[in-house]
Amino acid sequence: MQTYDIIIIGGGVIGSAVARELTRYQLSVAVLEKESDVCTQTSGRNTGMLHAGFLYKTGSLKAQCCVEGNREFDQVARELDVPFKRTGKLIVGFTEEHRQRLLAMIQRGRDNGVPGMELIDRARMDEIDPSAGGNFAIHCPSSGILDPFIYTIALAENAVKNGAKYHLYTEVTGSECLPDGRHVLHTNQGDFVCRWVINSAGLHSAEISDMLGIPGYVIQPVKGEYFVLDKKAGAFARIPVYPAPTEHNTFDTHATPTVDGNVLVGPNSFNVEDGEDYSVRQVGMDGLQESGARMFKHMKREYYIRTFAGARPKRINPATGEIQDFLIERREDVPGVINLVGIESPGLTSALPIARRVVALLKEKEELTPNPAFDPTRKGIIRFHEASRAEQARLIATDPDYGEIVCRCETVTRAEIRAAIHNPLGVCTVNGIKVRTRASMGRCQGGYCETRITAMIREELGKAVTDVRLTNGHSTMFTGSVKGGDQA
Ligand SMILES: Cc1cc2nc3c(=O)[nH]c(=O)nc-3n(C[C@H](O)[C@H](O)[C@H](O)COP(=O)(O)OP(=O)(O)OC[C@H]3O[C@@H](n4cnc5c(N)ncnc54)[C@H](O)[C@@H]3O)c2cc1C
Repeated sequence: MQTYDIIIIGGGVIGSAVARELTRYQLSVAVLEKESDVCTQTSGRNTGMLHAGFLYKTGSLKAQCCVEGNREFDQVARELDVPFKRTGKLIVGFTEEHRQRLLAMIQRGRDNGVPGMELIDRARMDEIDPSAGGNFAIHCPSSGILDPFIYTIALAENAVKNGAKYHLYTEVTGSECLPDGRHVLHTNQGDFVCRWVINSAGLHSAEISDMLGIPGYVIQPVKGEYFVLDKKAGAFARIPVYPAPTEHNTFDTHATPTVDGNVLVGPNSFNVEDGEDYSVRQVGMDGLQESGARMFKHMKREYYIRTFAGARPKRINPATGEIQDFLIERREDVPGVINLVGIESPGLTSALPIARRVVALLKEKEELTPNPAFDPTRKGIIRFHEASRAEQARLIATDPDYGEIVCRCETVTRAEIRAAIHNPLGVCTVNGIKVRTRASMGRCQGGYCETRITAMIREELGKAVTDVRLTNGHSTMFTGSVKGGDQA
């Protein structure tokens, strides 16, 4: 039985932000995550926008946390070495009805404290990004794009650096309260004991809330499908382009450049029962082709390299179906529990503000002693292809593995893959290497480098090739030798 002061259930961007903020204090902190890595669920299946905060009801937690998270992100990205660009955003309109909705949106943005939003005409849009569709637009300068995988990993790695412990492949299956008020969490890896439990289980947050003694919440998974476009399309995309909001104040398909130069087209939006079914539908992709082309003039089939999907964990009112605000609660009748339910968009933008609110709830019950050794910084893996020629030469001179390219599409070297294999969280799946280095994210989607990465995992960690996994415990890549002999 392992004992901690605080256990966080769910190691996505929210659980990892909470873990990082808690390590500012002298507390023993653990994160229990059922998957092989921290960004396999919603935190790795989104648009990667640093939202500005103009969409959400004034005064709501969504609005407050989003604006706060947006404002501080330049510093956060520097501290944690997260790829980030403050690109701004266009929200485009075609009709008079759209214009009225955009004007209302500017007003809401002002009420929420979003700076610099203005309505611009087509001529000004052409100066900002000629590939954007639409007759006029809101320009919102504070929006940005970030790498959601690296952000989640960076928060987790910084938490680990400051003393938190991650237990991957550890699924919480039940809980009970001890007579002294502590909690026992039952998992597939044995029991864990703690004084405080923090529920940040994303799509499963209502089930975990139930398990911890706070029943009644309902999560509706709302799926979104995407196309990933090649960097050739990315060369045309300067800024995220969103359509005017629908009458329900939601956004339809948008086109968003990524920090690495691809373009994401999506997401659409439809209710599903199983939020973790990440398959995409032909009808959905056909719809994205049509709606995406209205936002981005270079939406062509020849640029498609991949599809993916994610599901927003929307908390709904069970009686009316109405979508609710983020829930961040501590209840006197259920001691030792902090509940985070319905952390849908803009959860990525809001992760650290949400985490600070969790700490504030904890401080209402306990005096927390600062951790004098806390270090807010984390350094990522060096990206060889982003280095200058002189720097590349210096890297190769210090480590010849920088001179060997493993992923040709994304120019990722053997030295970077090796650094990723020895990551601080101990993640050793092929997808874990992919999201840390971009190896296999390019045009050929791993056709060339995946077997080489597998071989490196085997060599570096002394694993049998049959033990290497793509993403999780079931995703075996090799079942044995075809011709007999060594497992190469
Ligand atoms: C299509 C889409 C687009 C989005 N775009 C944006 C955007 O551009 N900008 C933005 O700010 N936000 C965006 N969001 C929202 C954002 O992605 C989420 O709010 C955020 O990722 C939620 O993080 P999380 O940590 O709560 O969830 P998750 O990442 O899902 O983490 C929860 C974790 O809990 C684990 N877990 C669940 N049950 C258990 C259990 N029993 N035991 C142990 N572990 C468990 C899961 O495996 C999971 O890893 C988008 C979301 C979607 C779906």
